Amino acid sequence: MNRRHRTDQPADQWSGWSYYGAAHRYDVHDTPEATAACDRLMDRLEAARDERTLRKLAYDDSNACAFVRLVEMMVDADRITDLRTLALDGDGRAFATLMELLVREDRVEQLRAEVPVFASARAWLAHTLVRRGDVDAALVELELLESDPEHGHFAHSERLNLLLAHGRVDQVRVLAESGDRPAARRLKHWLASAP
Ligand SMILES: [Zn+2]
Repeated sequence: MNRRHRTDQPADQWSGWSYYGAAHRYDVHDTPEATAACDRLMDRLEAARDERTLRKLAYDDSNACAFVRLVEMMVDADRITDLRTLALDGDGRAFATLMELLVREDRVEQLRAEVPVFASARAWLAHTLVRRGDVDAALVELELLESDPEHGHFAHSERLNLLLAHGRVDQVRVLAESGDRPAARRLKHWLASAP
């Protein structure tokens, strides 16, 4: 099957595909024959638009290859509502795929629209803003995410990364001196590794 997005480009942590194009990235079927048979089955189901069977395999039988094929079809058709529905049902893989799609396509407004539903979308939004060169806006988003009970710790760590990566050591120092222990730790490491 021809896919819409490339999967062979070097990509960073945020825009590399975790699932799209990832069927048989690892040897999950033991034999080349079994792998080829899986490909044929998935191609047949996709050609028939048989999403019912793909979903059944993906969710009832925990068939990762069927899940990959299902999200590939959704991504290629830009079915973000369907990806979001799977994510809302608790599928973190679908959430990651949705975010990866939006980051890759630089869809900042859509990422912003996901924030009320998925708090951690802010981290992906922040990364997209960094890719656009708007570090200040990214820092604002990460700081907003820091109050989130689940993702706050990660957001703070990402904000410190971003500050140090952009030479804003003074801002990290201010945080460290105001009693921010992660900032103090990071500053210490940064100073130790600075030439
Ligand atoms: Zn397979």
